[in-house]
Amino acid sequence: MKIIFTLDGGLEVIDLRSVLDKFRALNMVKEINIELSPKFEIPAVMQKYDNGPVLIFNRVKNHKIPVISGVAGSRKVFMKQLNCVHLTDFYNKLLSAVSNPSRPEIVSDGEFYDHTLSSDLYKLPILTFFEKDRAPYITSGIVYAKDPDSGIQNASIHRLMLVDKNHLAIRIVPRHLYSIYQKYRVKNQPLPVAIAIGVNPLVALSASAPVPFNFDEMYVANTLLDKQLTVCKTPNTDIQVPSHSEIIIEALILPEDVEEGPFLDITGTYDEVRRQPLVEVNQIYCKRNPFYHGLLPAGAEHKLLMGLFREVKIYEHVKNVVPNVRGVNLTLGGTGWLHAVVSVSKQTEGDGKNVIFAAFSGHPSLKHVVVVDEDIDPYNMEEVEWAIATRFQGDKGLVVVSNARGSSLDPSGDQQTGLTTKIGVDATRPLNKPKEVFMKGIIPHNLNLDEI
Ligand code: MN
Repeated sequence: MKIIFTLDGGLEVIDLRSVLDKFRALNMVKEINIELSPKFEIPAVMQKYDNGPVLIFNRVKNHKIPVISGVAGSRKVFMKQLNCVHLTDFYNKLLSAVSNPSRPEIVSDGEFYDHTLSSDLYKLPILTFFEKDRAPYITSGIVYAKDPDSGIQNASIHRLMLVDKNHLAIRIVPRHLYSIYQKYRVKNQPLPVAIAIGVNPLVALSASAPVPFNFDEMYVANTLLDKQLTVCKTPNTDIQVPSHSEIIIEALILPEDVEEGPFLDITGTYDEVRRQPLVEVNQIYCKRNPFYHGLLPAGAEHKLLMGLFREVKIYEHVKNVVPNVRGVNLTLGGTGWLHAVVSVSKQTEGDGKNVIFAAFSGHPSLKHVVVVDEDIDPYNMEEVEWAIATRFQGDKGLVVVSNARGSSLDPSGDQQTGLTTKIGVDATRPLNKPKEVFMKGIIPHNLNLDEI
């Protein structure tokens, strides 16, 4: 039962400002009322509060539109929205939405139809994040495009560099949007897209759902939102977007390239300069008094939006090997993408190794994985290190795989071939020694320590 978005009239409201209202009621929002510049100042405050609360920047220098951030910045904000108390319930909800996609209701117009900013990107409070970033970047834009052969839409989040008043550059790695774009590019034609900024966090999360090509990610979002998602065409395109979007950009990805980057990405290091497609903006629509969603690169929100569904895939694959999985953590220190800790109930000797292989198959970009027993909290890195210190032997528990396909984001990987070395650490206790040898001792007492 979903009650958190129900208004008095029973109407379900799922837009971003309703989510903010809910988090406000839970004391999870901090409003910042001093005037701050979109260049470095707002990002610096975002970085300070990276582990929460949700932030609203009400006064942005030279801009009318307020900036919000952190609305997708913790597992807690997602679990609150889905009314999940236990992590495994949350994982199962995400997996179930992927296997039970549902078509969102189509409505005739969107809440963003009201206003237009013509094609002037300078009216948006686009943030400049890090010292060596080439330009301001839109980092929360969901790009919607339609495959010309099947007519099925794709949704994906891409970094968008501000080039001038009505141009952006888009970084596209060879995945779904890239495949669609290539079909236009070979004919020297522009690809029409719609870009949404400021949607329900579950809609943003669904854009990274692990689904195949020709599978509309909004169907996953609709299931997650109890089938309350409505979509509409943008005024001048045939592309459907969430009707509750705060801001919609109608644009064309042109069959020509410009220099994009440097830009600080998820690893916290600068991604190199590349030739990437140029985007021409035709029209920008927004709600009355819209919010702009600013997402700090390499921040917790970036890592979760990119990594949470991978965490869930690792969970799914590991469950094929051992039935009881306490949790999976794509760790923040491991960039939310390259390091995982998996906590399982080991049943037979060798389970730890099989869990390592399952984790790598669940998330192909994964570089290092540590497997721990169920008494170790995978989100407490000091406990994880303790398990490595007391339960791991390098000549027995280590798995090294060289020349595997890695992430292009890892600066230590081979940038030419894309190859990397993967390591698995089985830090589960061996079953041929008494369990007591490996358990932490306790201090017996009857004190209520909270009162002392
Ligand atoms: Mn896709």
